[in-house]
Amino acid sequence: MTLFADVTGSADAHRPDLPAGLPVTRINLGNLRRNWLFLSSLAKDCQPMGVIKSDAYGHGLEAVARALLDAGCRNLAVGGVAEGVILRKFLGDTGQEISVLSLLGAQSPEDAASAVAHRITPLVASAGQAAQVSAAWSGPDPLPVAIKVDTGLARLGFRAHEMQECITALRSLANLRPAMLLSHLAFADNPARDESVSGQAERFLAAYAAMRAFWPDIALSLANSACHLARDIHLGSLPPQVSRIGFALYGGNPFSGTAREHLGRALLPVMEAAAPVLGVHDLARGQSVSYGGIFTAGKDMRIAVVGAGYADGLSRLLSGKGQVCIRGERCPRIGNLCMQMHMVDVGRVPGAARGDAAYLLGGEGPGAISMWDIAGEWGTIPYEVFTALGRNPRRYQS
Ligand SMILES: *Cc1c(COP(=O)(O)O)cnc(C)c1O
Repeated sequence: MTLFADVTGSADAHRPDLPAGLPVTRINLGNLRRNWLFLSSLAKDCQPMGVIKSDAYGHGLEAVARALLDAGCRNLAVGGVAEGVILRKFLGDTGQEISVLSLLGAQSPEDAASAVAHRITPLVASAGQAAQVSAAWSGPDPLPVAIKVDTGLARLGFRAHEMQECITALRSLANLRPAMLLSHLAFADNPARDESVSGQAERFLAAYAAMRAFWPDIALSLANSACHLARDIHLGSLPPQVSRIGFALYGGNPFSGTAREHLGRALLPVMEAAAPVLGVHDLARGQSVSYGGIFTAGKDMRIAVVGAGYADGLSRLLSGKGQVCIRGERCPRIGNLCMQMHMVDVGRVPGAARGDAAYLLGGEGPGAISMWDIAGEWGTIPYEVFTALGRNPRRYQS
């Protein structure tokens, strides 16, 4: 099964070989390693897993994987099988002892064959997916697979009340060995919804009891970043489990703005994004700026043109919203944001000049733009900010 098999022509490469736009994203691998060390220090009783799906949340699959392995990580989770294959190729011989889990699992017989060929543990979320993986495996020992059970997110997975059917299906496929049982939480970052987390944990434990009767060594994995940070609250009733940690690795505190904020206070930001100032000029009182003239100067003012637009992953929903940081000062966006540019008010930065860095995310001093500042103005969450801005050329800082 290949989607769009009738479409002719070659596929775009992951990163088309075209001149890049102007913004650059900077990735601080030292902070990523420090975040890993902090997060793994919280859990004496388990091996955390680094979640690096979607090009490591826009931070770069290869660089992030290498930094995590340097810091002692031995378990990685990617998105689709194809991403796992790319990772295995990067890692080569150095990655022999690293386990790679595909969180989406195989979606076709070809996918199942490449998971098997590259030692990528496939997630199995349905009887059909189990059969597809089973058909691809002909090795002497049963193939380890990760079983996904849906305990309340209502996304992928065997439904919690259908564990007997799940077990029957898996027992009929003797060349598979369920090595891990996993489930994903819907409200772990919301302290007001602790009862939802404990409900999911209870259903997860029931599924575990059913599975353990047939596969006594099966490992458990429930926690994401938020649950891992709040492990004393959420994981007390569970045997040792594997935490699947994404957001917090990249410096995201899932409890930002809540009563549990202190749990993630040690996390350090990893991504910054900046674009050059392309020019600075005056705007006379009464003059409007950019397409559609949604902003008109109420007084004489000085503005800068910043070389980043919606083609660079900076949403047009940021038109007239939020700020960039130039020379440590906040400069508000004005007018409609364009494809490769937008305008900002530089009244607070008298020396602003062509070539200055305008930080979309990050920056120096008290004017720095946090992931929550930009996500709030954008109407989204930092996860989306990372994946959008991370598509720009990246520079790595060790
Ligand atoms: C993305 C993802 C995670 C990681 O969640 P964070 O909130 O980023 O820690 C864990 N498990 C699954 C199944 C995921 O898709």
